[in-house]
This record gives sequence, C-alpha cells and structure tokens, in this order.
Amino acid sequence: MNRFQDQSPLHTLMHHLAKLPGLGPRSAQRIALHLLKKREAHLHPLMISLQQVSDHIQTCDACGNLDTTSPCHICADLRRDTAQLCVVADVADVWALERAHIFKGHYHVLGGVLSALDGVGPDDLRLGTLRQRVQQLGVREVILALAATLEAQSTAHVIRDQLADLPVAITRLAHGLPVGGELDYMDEGTLVAALQARR
Ligand SMILES: [Zn+2]
Repeated sequence: MNRFQDQSPLHTLMHHLAKLPGLGPRSAQRIALHLLKKREAHLHPLMISLQQVSDHIQTCDACGNLDTTSPCHICADLRRDTAQLCVVADVADVWALERAHIFKGHYHVLGGVLSALDGVGPDDLRLGTLRQRVQQLGVREVILALAATLEAQSTAHVIRDQLADLPVAITRLAHGLPVGGELDYMDEGTLVAALQARR
C-alpha cells in the first residue's frame, strides 16, 4: 500500500471501522465499500446519526446510563423505588431489564467488570460512587445482575466487601444465566425468572 493510500480518507475510515468490536480489517473494508455504494441510503443517514449521538447522548452522572439528559429519565423518575438498586455491567443490561418491565427500582451501571487480562481495575469502573448512592437513596436491597463469568463474579465479590457494613441486603440473580452469557442476550422470560428467584 503506497503513501497516498495510507493517508486517504477511505483508508482512515477503514482503519477506524476495523477497531470496532466484532469487526476486523476485512469487514471494515466491506462496510466502507458498501457505504460508498449506498451514499444516499446508508452513508448520509449514518453520518447524521453519528453526529446526533455525539452531540446529544451523555452518561448519567448518577447511574451511568446513557440518555439525552443527566440525570437520566430513570434516575429522574420519582415513581421508581429507591429501596432497590440493581447493579449491572453495561447499559445494554439496563435496556434488557427495562424491556422485560419487571424492575421498578434504580440502576447502577459499572461500565464493565474487573478483568486483569483486559487491564480493567476498580478505578476504571463506577465502583467509587456505589456506596455513596446506596446511602443517599436509602437502598435496602442491592441486586447484583452480573453474568456468571469469573470476572463478573470477582467484581460481585468486591462489591459485597464494599457494602458489607451497610444495613443493606445483597442479592444476585438466580442461576439460569448462561455461563459467560451476558444479560442482554437472555430472553425476557428467563430474565423475569432469574430476577424473581434472586437470593
Ligand atoms: Zn441515571
């Protein structure tokens, strides 16, 4: 590949696309070529959408959810039960639980789980404010809705330690989570059962 190609906008686009989760150089190339073939149908709407997301979507200062406002619509909803706080790894897990319409408490989005392999330490997660939120909201039950992976379970362990001296029950979803499975991939029925049978 010559110097001109290296610096061309097309090459830069493929370079960025290849870094996205689940994509590599080959799929990046396929997507870039597709977007150029379908400028009106796909490239232009995608450009507008990316700009709008960049301009308007923010992370909720309180819970870590993504929304157009901070606090997010869930944190701002006075009808939700402040006695229950559900700890999840990612925003996709909030979406999964909200789709199932079974949880009426508040959320705390960690932003991942501890992982020595991926270099994710306690400071990279929203762990510092968890204790403070539990106290401020008057939470009586913290539900750990984390996956059954080793990393997620060691994250759960750290959270239990952090909250050990507070007058709060710490429960977790019942078994039924697939090993290594993410909450987001569970169907709603399984999710409802896992939440109802928490312990
Ligand atoms: Zn929020």
